[in-house]
Amino acid sequence: MSRPRVIRCAACAGRIKPQHPHVGVEDLETGVEFSYHARPDCQIRCAEETATRLSAGKVYAAHHYHSALCPVAASGFGCTGGCFDTPMAVAN
Ligand SMILES: [Zn+2]
Ligand SMILES: [Zn+2]
Repeated sequence: MSRPRVIRCAACAGRIKPQHPHVGVEDLETGVEFSYHARPDCQIRCAEETATRLSAGKVYAAHHYHSALCPVAASGFGCTGGCFDTPMAVAN
């Protein structure tokens, strides 16, 4: 039996439940993905850290993982499920 992957927030080191909304920032070179809670303080850290990494010449793709209860299947933030209160400004 494989155990579910534990996702930890790169901003606060807290655990992110897979069924809860969160943001993943994927390093397109290495495939490593940094995950962040959808709450504003972690999103601020996410935007800051991503900006720092981008300025170092890295290339990233941001993924928005919606809540399991979110009625919107489309990717990206701005859904009506309230997953992402504060749309963050990261390059995509
Ligand atoms: Zn967090
Ligand atoms: Zn949503």
